[in-house]
This record gives sequence, structure tokens and C-alpha cells, in this order.
Amino acid sequence: MKKIIVQKFGGSSVADAEKIKNVAKIAVKEKELGNDVLVVVSAMGKTTDGLVKLAREISPNPNPREMDMLLSTGEGVSIALLAMAIQETGHKARSLNAMQIGILTEAIHQNARITAIATERIKEAFANDEIVIVAGFQGITEDNEITTLGRGGSDTSAVALAGVLNAERCDIYTDVDGVYTADPRIVPNAAMIKEISYGEMLELARVGAKVLHPRSVETAKNVNMQVRVRSTFHPENEGSLVTSKQNLELMSHVRGIASDKKQVRVVFSCVPDTPGIAAKLFRRLCEENISVDMIIQSYARRQNKSNDITFTISEDDYKRSGDILWRVREEIGAIEVHINEDIAKVSIVGAGMVDTPGIAATMFEAIAGLGVNIKMIATSEIKISCLVSRNEADECVKALCKAFELEETGVL
Ligand code: ASP
Ligand code: MG
Repeated sequence: MKKIIVQKFGGSSVADAEKIKNVAKIAVKEKELGNDVLVVVSAMGKTTDGLVKLAREISPNPNPREMDMLLSTGEGVSIALLAMAIQETGHKARSLNAMQIGILTEAIHQNARITAIATERIKEAFANDEIVIVAGFQGITEDNEITTLGRGGSDTSAVALAGVLNAERCDIYTDVDGVYTADPRIVPNAAMIKEISYGEMLELARVGAKVLHPRSVETAKNVNMQVRVRSTFHPENEGSLVTSKQNLELMSHVRGIASDKKQVRVVFSCVPDTPGIAAKLFRRLCEENISVDMIIQSYARRQNKSNDITFTISEDDYKRSGDILWRVREEIGAIEVHINEDIAKVSIVGAGMVDTPGIAATMFEAIAGLGVNIKMIATSEIKISCLVSRNEADECVKALCKAFELEETGVL
């Protein structure tokens, strides 16, 4: 049996005709090694952003089904062009969209999860010696409705396909050389991470590292698929491997730093201090499809039996939430809602953190050293997050990289 290699190329890798030809070469090279090759592609360049903008010019709150109809078109263009580019090299290629393959998802628009993938058409194409080019990001419901997987979702398409095909590996080709200890656009001397565990990568992706779609890491972990993040423009480099292997004892306790500048802080103040209030508040937000991140309930005030509940939500959820937060305020009997949009979340991630004393202190000292005020703190087993003002976030990321020796010269 031939080995199956899945490759995924992001928008910047297929931004123009020349780049598409370059991608064709990378796919053909893998095929010439004697493997079956399946290539997942995103829409060209900033196509998806352009389509979103166009929709907003027509409607401030576009219909989610029609948004999926619109956004799924971007990937349709790139698969056909890439198939042509491969055919030009003398190899056989066939482009397929999610409907043709049967990439089934839940019936939720704009953020659907993949539930099953049919492999017949892919196997048929492999048997015919074709390189298979698949549109990322899109899916289809049982009722033949088109869905999309959420922005950045092509990574998840690729890993899920690799999983059902039992692929040897899934290579995610992108415009950087791999996964870095911090965004190299913020910290130019951030170090590249050679190997990172699923758990750490998942947490880094969730707290804002944009290199991989968080759900792709979750999928990789579920199906135990080795994922290599590597550069389209330097394909000879090995890149970073995301794998089930855990850190060795000697590795540093903090593996990476990330920031998320798309958070909004919400404070419900003077909420009645009685059982069931938090339950009601967060159930209502869930009904409105608003996902909540950091949550803090403050110490209760004795005088009027009330306390404050503070949490963060994404800027996107906030923008589409209208007056929901104020309606919920009334329902739970809180006195006020305060919104702060000048918020960024800066996080450190590392599986070795729990058992290492002093990590939190080092983080807070590094931030204090900049004279930056921390507005909120939250921790999990493998991360610590602090909220700061948006314009202070990059400075904090740089200082933390230094404090935890995550620059190129540091120990990894
Ligand atoms: N084209 C989609 C987006 O821009 C999916 C992807 O690139 O992963 O979000
Ligand atoms: Mg991406």
C-alpha cells in the first residue's frame, strides 16, 4: 500500500498564479516520492476577507446561510487553478469540493464541525494515480446545505481528511517557517519550536497563536495525527512537529507566549448574591451563542448582598450581540453592565508550569517592569492569562519572551 500524505496550503501560499505553480511543484515532488497525495487549499490571498467585506456593504448582519454560500466560493477558485497547475507538469490531478467528496458537518452555519467524511471518491482518484485537490473550510449538511468551518478552518479540513485516510502525516504549509515561541511579527527573535505536544499547541492556538486553527489541533489529538507546520517558500526546512510526545523534564516550563487583541471585557456589577444567578447569566449567553472566556466572580459585598461578575467575550460576539447583554442584566437583576473594548489577553503556555513554583510571579514581574497594569488574571493547568490594555500587549509579549528565555538564544 502506498503512503498517503496530506498537504494544506493557506491563502498566502496560493495568492497568485506564480505561487499556485510553486505549490504544484511541492505536491508533485511528494507524489514523485511514490506517495498518494491529497492537497487541501484555502482561498487565494485575502479573498475570504474581501467577500466578508462585500457582504457587510450589503447587509450589516448578513444571513448566515447566504454567508456560507458566499464564503465557500473562494476555495472553489483555488482548487481548480491548482489542479490545472499540476496538470501542466504532466501529472494527473482532480479538484473536488466538499459536496463532491461528502465532508459532512453539523447543520450550523459559519462554524460547523465535521461529523463524517466519505472517502470513496478520494480513493477512486488515488487508484487512478491522481493528485487530489480538496477545497478546505467547507462542508455539507445531511440536507445538502453548504456550511463553513469558521475562519481559518482549512487547517481542520486537512487534519480531518488525514485522519479518515489514515495518512502518514499532515503537512500544513504556511508563510512562516513553523511554530514560534511568540508571533515573529511581534518578537523578531522569537525561537522556532521543533516539537510541541498537542496539549500545548492547542492551548497556544486557543489563546491567540494564529499559526493553526485550534480545532485542527483538537482533531489531530483525537485521531493521533502528526502535524508538521512548515514553510511554502522554504519547503526544504523541516518546520515544527505537533505530536503526542510530551516535553522532556529538561525542557523549559513555558513553551510559548500568545496574545489576543480581539477580546472585550464585560462586568455585570451589583448582581444579587443568591444561588442560580451565575447559572442563569451564562445559560442566557449560551442561548445567544456567545462564548465566554475568562470568568471572575468577586468577593460578595455584605451590605447589599451583591457581587460583580466579570468575563471576557470575543469582539465578534460582542459586535453581533446588540442589546442582549442589557436584556440579560435586567433578567438577572444586576445594576449595571460595563463594557471595556480596550482589552488584550496575553498568555503564557507550558505543560510543565503546574509543578514549577514562581512562574506566575515571573510573569507578573515582567509585566510590572513595564509599568503595565494587569486588569484581570486567569489560570488553567497549562496556561496563565493576563488582561492588559490593547496598546500594551506587544510590549508584554516581548518582555515575557525575554523573562522566560524564549528568544532564539534561549533554551528550548
Ligand atoms: N479561507 C478561509 C479563511 O480565510 C479558510 C482558511 O483560510 O483556512 O478563513
Ligand atoms: Mg490559517
